[in-house]
This record gives sequence, structure tokens and C-alpha cells, in this order.
Amino acid sequence: MKNNHKDITIDDVQQIVHTTSAWKVVNSLLEKGLVSVYENMYENYQPKKEKYVFLTQQYQDEAQLKLLFSQLEKAPKQLNLLLTYLHLKQTQIDVLQTELIKQAEASSAQLNALLDKQVFTIKKIEVDRIKFDAPVELKPNILSSLQETAYREILDGFAQKKPVLLKGITGSGKTHIYFKLIEDCIAQGKQALYLLPEIALTAQIVRKLRSVFGNRIGVYHSRFSNNERVEVWKKIQHKQYDIVIGARSALMLPFADLGLVIIDEEHDTSYKQQDPAPRYHARDCAIFLAHQCKADILLGSATPSVESFFNAQAGKYKLVELHERYGNASLPKVTIVDSKLDLLNKTQKGIFSGQLVDAIQDSLANKKQVILFQNRRGYSPYVMCSTCGWVPHCKYCDVSLTYHKHTDQLHCHYCGSKSPYIKSCPACGNSRIVAKSFGTEKIEDDIKQLFPYARVERFDWDALKTKNKYSEIIRKFENREIDILVGTQMLVKGLDFEHVNTVGVLSADSLLSFPDFRVNERVFQLLEQVSGRAGRKDDMGRVMIQLFKTNHPTILQVKAHDYKGFYLEEIQSREEFQYPPFTRLLRITLRHKNQDTVLFAAQKLAEHLASLPKTILFGPAEPPIGRIRNQFIQEILLKMNKDTTVMQEIKKFVREKIVELSTTKNFTTVQVVVDVDPF
Ligand SMILES: [Zn+2]
Ligand SMILES: [Zn+2]
Repeated sequence: MKNNHKDITIDDVQQIVHTTSAWKVVNSLLEKGLVSVYENMYENYQPKKEKYVFLTQQYQDEAQLKLLFSQLEKAPKQLNLLLTYLHLKQTQIDVLQTELIKQAEASSAQLNALLDKQVFTIKKIEVDRIKFDAPVELKPNILSSLQETAYREILDGFAQKKPVLLKGITGSGKTHIYFKLIEDCIAQGKQALYLLPEIALTAQIVRKLRSVFGNRIGVYHSRFSNNERVEVWKKIQHKQYDIVIGARSALMLPFADLGLVIIDEEHDTSYKQQDPAPRYHARDCAIFLAHQCKADILLGSATPSVESFFNAQAGKYKLVELHERYGNASLPKVTIVDSKLDLLNKTQKGIFSGQLVDAIQDSLANKKQVILFQNRRGYSPYVMCSTCGWVPHCKYCDVSLTYHKHTDQLHCHYCGSKSPYIKSCPACGNSRIVAKSFGTEKIEDDIKQLFPYARVERFDWDALKTKNKYSEIIRKFENREIDILVGTQMLVKGLDFEHVNTVGVLSADSLLSFPDFRVNERVFQLLEQVSGRAGRKDDMGRVMIQLFKTNHPTILQVKAHDYKGFYLEEIQSREEFQYPPFTRLLRITLRHKNQDTVLFAAQKLAEHLASLPKTILFGPAEPPIGRIRNQFIQEILLKMNKDTTVMQEIKKFVREKIVELSTTKNFTTVQVVVDVDPF
């Protein structure tokens, strides 16, 4: 390293030694006592300030002010500015400079003139970045008798110091119960944390919360800027917020006095952080946090995760159930639409079944709304040469490219790279490139052609890139300014729409083909949640699921809304194949730009781990997508005995072996990532 530098940063080291794992080098130097490391902290937070206008001391005096009026008669614009100020001051504590200029229809030159005459002064005052609209009128939160019973049972569970699992079918009004518990918590002078899987949901819930609790609600999620985060952080610490609502990271906030944690949609996969580290599961961490703070904790879902329901069955959690929908609503009727028959009888209209088109037609005629669900975004998930079968793949990843009509380009959904649409096949030269399968973009396009007068919007990752687009679409749909909403699973998570009575699920087969032991659980949860969007408020909704595999057991369970049936079948196969909740999983992922290097490294590591007692080892194996961003991937999976001490020993052993690998010749640059309970 350079001698002429006294101190260098890790970034410098990175550049000098041409590696992305500079910490490894630094750590080995640290161990040898050759270098020392220190960290510097600097304040990044900038309070937001706005300019306010004040009358100077001199003109606080009535007589002086009168004199000023007569002096300003020759400057009517300035006089008007002064009068506007005095008018605004009657209803506001402080007057914002921008507002004064706007209200008085004045120019900054005129304001400056009054500043020069020392009539006004301007002060910069710190303001909140996160602002709510005007205060709302508070509505009482009243429980139905069924909800009241469930609420009593929950309190019972809290008294026994157990986490409570509230299993309430979609539309049973779980939120009313949450609100009641929050009320109790605030009445005891404590803070409540309300976790949601997706920030898309917060807008709707915040509005409901504010109508019951007013303004002492903090919102926290990853789309906030650092400055906004600091403000929320401080207000929670100083107990200026009674309720905090947020996505998984809200868990890490410094609560002054936490009394209650609610995890809504507890089964949702978004609670697990995959990348980057820390790879934690917010639900499991919340249970730990609540235990530490002696706070009550409630998990809510219409389709609980197999783990949570298992814990409830085992008596570790208290189970509370709500079997009926709120009001007079009943669960929607689910129709399985056989795509084979549609093809045979030629009853389909493009990508839609004739039955679904009729249902949409009927909904629109009755001024109802429609949701169409497809778990793939873009226009067509892949394109193919119809002569030789060639499919364009990403240069950097082992995946086929998705065509997006909006950009007229091929996108890779793994690394984000884009390339031009291919007009002729590089393999055979033919120009018959056809779109295969379809995503949300094509559904939006096709449905607009079938129903040209319907107002159609898309709700998926591509359509929602901007910060406020989420709440805008949700608000428009609530206000019935949209007739048909086309979306991916983002749409599914707990949003409540009163006027939807048809939900269509297109090509559900694609959901059933995920290579994951949780595939049936995911499919059941997803389809049951999608169905739950239909038919609220005295109106029977209908759900149409289009697919080929019509006799798949999970599909039949969804049709019958049969959670118990699904659970019993699933838990049996989990036990048989030793998957969670009967074991814990530990996944080790190795990545390297050289395919052989990563394979040899993975084999070496697996060899070391094979001797571990009380574990079952799988792999190394290439995952379904074996290369992402030009990095080749190998995976090792361990099924671990659930005993805590055994698990600690296993983790210690794995850690040692990984360190050993990272110092082995040829493998120092292999990236190794460990994830416990990765799915
Ligand atoms: Zn071809
Ligand atoms: Zn890619």
C-alpha cells in the first residue's frame, strides 16, 4: 500500500487491490496487527426549513401600524401585501412566505420593499417533511358481535402471554379488531406497531387509521428518503407517535414504549428479506421483539402460513377464528374454467375464456368493477422463433427475455438489462418470431380491445415505479374511476374494494410450476387472497380461474375455500419429506464468474459439511436459474434438527467451514451467502 497516505478508506483499498472483497484483505491484515481500522460518523440529516414572515417589533404596536397604513397609501401593492398578512394571521399561527405572496398576488420585489422598510422579517423554521392532509373527523370503531367475541378471545390469549393467530376469512373485518386492540394499547399510554407486507397497502390503511385515531400515526417504509426516516425515528423515540405503520423494516425503529405488535397478512413472503443482508423474517423477529418488550403480539391472516397454523395447533400460539364475512357478504363462488375445453370448443376470445368475458360484460353492465390477475408482468414472458424454436436469452443470466410493448424492448427481469426486439431469428434467419404466453401488459391491451369503453389500468411493478402512483391508482379504483384493474400479486395483498364482483385469474398453471417445497402453500394463499377481493357488501362475487390442470388438489381446495383440507394435506407431506415446520432450512449460495471455480468450491464445502450430525445435506446443485449477472451459482441446502443447541452448533460449524473455504487457494473470490429459512 502507498506510504504517502496516512489513512485510506475501504473504497481506496478496493481500488488498489482490485477486489470487491477488500474486507477480507483488511481483516487478515488486522489479525496480523499490521493495520488498524477506525470508523467515522457524520451527520447526514438536514432538517427541512421553510421561510415564514413576521411583523417586526416596531409594528406590533397599534399606533405605529396605523401610521404605516397612511405611509403606504402611495404604494398600494405593498399595502395590500400588509393587509393580506394581517388577514392570514387571524387564522394561522405563522404565515408562510410563499403563501403570503400567492394570496396577495404580489411579487418578491414588493415583499423585499417591506423587508427593507423593516416592516417584515423572515425566519427559517424547521418543518415536518411528512405531512398529512387536514385533520379528519373521527369515526367510532364499532365491532359486530362475532368480532367482539374474537376480540375477547384475543385478550384471553394475551393474558396467557401467548402470541395470538387470528385466522379470519377474507372480508371478515379483521381490521376492526386490530383497531380495537390499538385503541386499548393507546389508552394504556403505550405504542402500537402495525406491520404490513407491502407499502402499496399503507395508504389505504393509514386513511382508515386516521379516521379513527387522528394524526398521531407514523408511517415508515423503504421508499422514504433518509431525511424522512430521521424524522419518523425521532418522533417514535420521543413518543410523538402512538401508532407506527410500516413494512418489515419498521420493526427496527426505537420504540419508547411498545405495547402491541400486529402483523397483518402474516403468511406473506414479503416479510422475508432475501437480499441484501440482514436476511431476516420480520414475523419471526417481531415475535422475538414483542417478547423482549413484554408487548402483546397478534398475527392475522385469512390463509395462515403452515408454520403459524402448526404452532397454533401445537398450543404455542392461541388460535382465534372468524368464519363469517362482515355484514351480509358471503364468500365468492369460485369457478374453475378448463382451458382444454375452451380450446376444444373454440370458446375462448384470445387469451380470455368466453365465460370470463361474459362475466366481465355483466359486471360492467351493472356498474361493478373487475380485477384481472396474472402473475407475470410485461407483454409476453418469452418470444420464440416459430420455425426453429430459438428463444432469446439474457446475455448475463440464464433466463429467457420478456418482451415489453411499452418500451418495444426485451427485458431481463433478473438483472434489469434491456435489448432491442429481435425481428429475425439469428439461428435460422426466419422472421416469424412469435410471442409466447402473456403478461399483464398484453392483458391490458387485449381487454381494452374487447371493451373499448371500459376504463382500464395496470397495477404492477412497471406501472408503479413512481412514489405516489400506488395510492393514486388505489384511490381511483376506490372512487370507481377505473372499471378494470389488471395486476400481479401486488394487487392481492389485503386491499379492500367494495364494488368488485368479478375476479379473473389467467393461466393459473404457471403458478403451479414453481420448483419450491412451498408451491402448494403459495398457490392456495395467492388464489384465496385473489378471490377475497370479490364480492364485499351484500353482493355475491365470482372468481374465475383459467387453467389446464383443473384437477390439481390445491385448485380444488381453493374452489371449496377449504383451508383445513389444504393444511392437513400439506402438513402431512411436510412431515414425510422433513420440511419446515419439522426442520429448519439453511441455504448456502455460492457465486463466481467462473463456472468451474464455483462448482469446485461448492463441492469442497459440501464435502466438509457432509460430516455434520443431525442434518440432511442436499447438493451442491445448480438452482433453476444457474447464472445471474454473469455470476454462476451453486447451492447447498441443509435440513437442520430444530433443537436450539443443535442448531447453534451447526451454524458455528458452517461458519468455520465457510471461513476455511474463503482462505483456500483459488476460492478466495467465491462469494458465499448463508440464509436461514430462505423460503
Ligand atoms: Zn429460427
Ligand atoms: Zn439478465
